[in-house]
Amino acid sequence: MEQPSVTTGQKTKQPENLDVLASTQTVIKQALNKLGYPEPVYELLKEPLRMLTVRIPVRMDDGSVKIFTGYRAQHNDAVGPTKGGVRFHPDVTASEVKALSIWMSLKAGIVDLPYGGGKGGIVCDPRTMSFRELERLSRGYVRAISQIVGPSKDIPAPDIFTNSQIMAWMLDEYSSIREFDSPGFITGKPLVLGGSRGRETATAKGVTLMIREAAKKRGIDLKGARVIVQGFGNAGSYLSKFMHDAGAKVIAISDMHGALYNPDGLDIDYLLDRRDSHGSVTNLFEDRITNREMLELECDILVPAAVENQITADNAHNIRANIVVEAANGPTTLEATKILVERGILLVPDVLASAGGVTVSYFEWVQNNQGYYWPEEEVEQKLEETMVQAFENVYQTAQSRGVDMRLAAYMVGVRKMAEASRFRGWV
Ligand code: NAD
Repeated sequence: MEQPSVTTGQKTKQPENLDVLASTQTVIKQALNKLGYPEPVYELLKEPLRMLTVRIPVRMDDGSVKIFTGYRAQHNDAVGPTKGGVRFHPDVTASEVKALSIWMSLKAGIVDLPYGGGKGGIVCDPRTMSFRELERLSRGYVRAISQIVGPSKDIPAPDIFTNSQIMAWMLDEYSSIREFDSPGFITGKPLVLGGSRGRETATAKGVTLMIREAAKKRGIDLKGARVIVQGFGNAGSYLSKFMHDAGAKVIAISDMHGALYNPDGLDIDYLLDRRDSHGSVTNLFEDRITNREMLELECDILVPAAVENQITADNAHNIRANIVVEAANGPTTLEATKILVERGILLVPDVLASAGGVTVSYFEWVQNNQGYYWPEEEVEQKLEETMVQAFENVYQTAQSRGVDMRLAAYMVGVRKMAEASRFRGWV
């Protein structure tokens, strides 16, 4: 992303690079170097194997036709089919979708799933579209990408501004194209269409487990700990609830309109009750602070659970948290990561912290393939085992190799697909 330089006093300060694909590639390179892989492995893994751009015509409710742009990136399928969500957002770009697909590969490696990473996105603003327009767009997207997706090829799921209803339309469209029922084509479905118990809350449950493990390392008692959560959507709202139920004090939450702050703790159940389906609630209150002000409040645990590039070189020095756990994808830039780590803040990176969603998506796919469905306790127990083991693996790698948690997570995440690509004779 190109930005003008900023002149401060005598010196011209170069703006920070906020391109998430470029930062991901930087850390992948560092991880492969640390692991001793040669250059061709980096050349293979720095970009997705496949990237499809589609144009989707949609008949709008007023009779006009609008053409939407969509993407599907498949990063690497050496380990198994690719897997990853579909984002509906006006700011979706090809480069962001590519980066998101690489993060999915890393997540699958970190929690040891038989998948590579994929990701999709459509440039649109679902908040301005009707239910029927969204249905036509979702179905049109599936028709456009149907050749390259499937239960053993590439399996979509929800992401920002997409939900189980959208997954249901996509599943229905795919089943009509293929002329057979195919629940394993997509995850994050409603229960009655083959969804998994525990999927809706899986990302937040996973983040909660990562907070618990990180707090143990820092000797912080979760009871009474001050927590700040940015974003009140699927990830952020359930997380706030779980932290509240664990006895923590959620002192601030936010959404795209602003933030609410109460040093004595917010009434999370009330806010959950009032939030709309797009994760907005703060617009109902007059007494708001900005997202930026919220991020700089003093707390024990800060959880960015909204969008990219929220903690940058600009505000990293002002973050006053003991632990930062990234529920969102890419909320902290590389420069900011360095600043936080130097300041002694424990940063649990996105590719580890938010891997609970893809873990339970995998459980959903396994249940679909078996046609046998597990009780919620079983899903939760397996999620806990997987996430805690992944945390310990990354934490120990960071300690033993003398690197930060982000680089350690990339080292753990990249290894399996690098090995699989080598065994297949690709590099
Ligand atoms: P969502 O659409 O349900 O909610 C997004 C929230 O972020 C909303 O409250 C919205 O108002 C807020 N938001 C949007 N733009 C913002 C801005 N500029 N500043 C502050 N807040 C803003 O999305 P979600 O599913 O909760 O995903 C949130 C993050 O978590 C994303 O980075 C996503 O990739 C990541 N994630 C989600 C899952 C999942 O299963 N839902 C899994 C892994 C990672």
